[in-house]
Amino acid sequence: MLRNDQLDQWDRENFFHPSTHLAQHARGESPNRVIRTASGAHIEDRDGKRLLDGFAGLYCVNVGYGRPEIAEAIAAQAKELAYYHAYVGHGTEASITLAKMVLDRMPANMSKVYFGLGGSDANETNVKLIWYYNNILGRPEKKKIISRWRGYHGSGLVTGSLTGLELFHKKFDLPVSQVKHTVAPDYFRREDLNQTEAQFVAHCVAELEALIDREGADTIAAFIGEPVLGTGGIVPPPAGYWPAIQEVLRRHDILLVADEVVTGFGRLGSMTGSAHYGIEPDLITIAKGLTSAYAPLSGSVLGDKMWKVLEQGTDENGPIGHGWTYSAHPIGAAAGVANLKLLDDLDLVANAAEVGAYLQKGLRDALGDHANVGDIRGEGMLAAVEFVEDRADRRFFDPERKIGAQVSAKLLETGSVIGRAMPQGDIIGFAPPFCLTRDEADMIVAAMTRAVNEVL
Ligand code: PLP
Repeated sequence: MLRNDQLDQWDRENFFHPSTHLAQHARGESPNRVIRTASGAHIEDRDGKRLLDGFAGLYCVNVGYGRPEIAEAIAAQAKELAYYHAYVGHGTEASITLAKMVLDRMPANMSKVYFGLGGSDANETNVKLIWYYNNILGRPEKKKIISRWRGYHGSGLVTGSLTGLELFHKKFDLPVSQVKHTVAPDYFRREDLNQTEAQFVAHCVAELEALIDREGADTIAAFIGEPVLGTGGIVPPPAGYWPAIQEVLRRHDILLVADEVVTGFGRLGSMTGSAHYGIEPDLITIAKGLTSAYAPLSGSVLGDKMWKVLEQGTDENGPIGHGWTYSAHPIGAAAGVANLKLLDDLDLVANAAEVGAYLQKGLRDALGDHANVGDIRGEGMLAAVEFVEDRADRRFFDPERKIGAQVSAKLLETGSVIGRAMPQGDIIGFAPPFCLTRDEADMIVAAMTRAVNEVL
């Protein structure tokens, strides 16, 4: 074991951390945390400090930490066959089994799954397949993709462009020109405070129609959205949003991509966000919950409509020129099979619904009347608390005060609970593992109450 000071030194000297203030980290001004082990909903750092992980890593360790069933499946696969590729019709028992298990859990019109490694590359695949699709159909102009402000779809070139958060664009020359953004379905942050929820949905629809009109429907290929906005603030859609949006998309022959990287495999208390909200997508992005992050694996799940055109494309043009070395990696696939089995065996999706609702109620009961709590929301095992300076006129705090970051730091320091300060707004998000117990939900609520009262 390396000594702590050695670890710290090597970390600051060699390790380029994602989404980190590089200069502060290198100078040792921001804390680093070295995690050593984890079990259930708790992680433990190198000093033996136990923390209740209210965000399941990056909302991905859905079945909880330390599951021997998945670890053993990974070890067995690594011993038997650590790697073989999936090009030109190759596969493994694990990847073929997982493809079947995934399709069994997706909406009925879904036809095939293309495996990648993470959510970003899966969305990159989606965009390429959408462009290919329209080229095969003889519509080379129909290429633009509409995404929402506050959406999160990854941090590659195209996917970082789809992401509707300023931090992911600034100084990276993004978004690229093929990506257009429309309003976020965030009722709490509506511009017109007098709008009812139904009026706000009508406003979202009108904004989408106006964007399509401006750009021309014959130039727009697809619309991408998370069933519930995740990194943009954990915001469930207002009632009626998805049916209304889908009607517009259908009318203009625009494909719909449901980015279910967070919501897929149970986080909303339903197997998919699409099933939860009656969304009928042409493509679904899956990642995180596919393996509960025990190994990197993602998927682009294609509906019949696109698949038929892709087949036609390869008859006309030969094999599709798109593949990763690690597509359908056997170790990831073995982890996925064991993970989905565990999800069923332990009935964890039902627990996500039940304990998730309990957690939200706890947060509402404890903090609903606090003068600086503007909104408490959630769906299934997703919850968020948003802070305001003044509730009456929904005045937000000056971002310089970093209220969200302060609350999250206090939560950790005094409550040993991890809640994520979401990147745009003073919002603390919770997305615990689905195995969370009611006692653990109570711990989150108690720690959050104390942290909020200390900071505000
Ligand atoms: N899509 C959504 C909805 C996500 O939340 C994320 C990551 O948080 C991604 C895509 C990108 O996934 P990854 O970080 O695995 O590339």
